[in-house]
Amino acid sequence: MEKIFLLPDLPFDYNDLEPFMSEETLRIHHDKHHAAYVKEANFILERLDKAREGGLELNLKAELKALAFNAGGAILHSLFWANLAPPGTSKGEPVGSVKMAIEEEFGSFERLKEQLNKTAMSVEGSGWAALVYQKETRRILPMQIEKHDVNLYPAVQILLVLDAFEHAYYLDYKNEKAKFFEAFWNIANWEEVNNRFEKLIQ
Ligand code: MN
Repeated sequence: MEKIFLLPDLPFDYNDLEPFMSEETLRIHHDKHHAAYVKEANFILERLDKAREGGLELNLKAELKALAFNAGGAILHSLFWANLAPPGTSKGEPVGSVKMAIEEEFGSFERLKEQLNKTAMSVEGSGWAALVYQKETRRILPMQIEKHDVNLYPAVQILLVLDAFEHAYYLDYKNEKAKFFEAFWNIANWEEVNNRFEKLIQ
């Protein structure tokens, strides 16, 4: 196994998420932005290896900050593509065990959507809204991630992520990011979210 980050192929075609996410957005987002995080994270890993071999002096503080940002970008985008699906795939609603857990935790799916949308809307600058499972408390919680690595709880498991960087929506929605966050629920892959959840509660 290669000890590097990989850029996964999308599990759908570039135009499969229209009209909620355009082919142009998806091409740039996956092929350029995600690819760049993967490339840069791997480049930093390579520099760490070189430094260990004695060939390079590193500013470790700066390198590790950049690694957290780029590795976070690589991993979060892989999770994001996998928790998206063409409209209609899971009828736009949670399924299975996670559906029951969401109803118990939030009262209803509507309240979850409301909290996640507010989580995404209130990101300062660039970041993500996530739905996570915290094993210690056995709770499903919203989590806001600034950039790719700030405000993360240690060791929580990510069930679903929603990209709130401008590059995720600007071509399609311009400054109206609320419309993108609303649209997201049409292309959320609840089968995948449920699979992630069921693996954690076994
Ligand atoms: Mn992104």
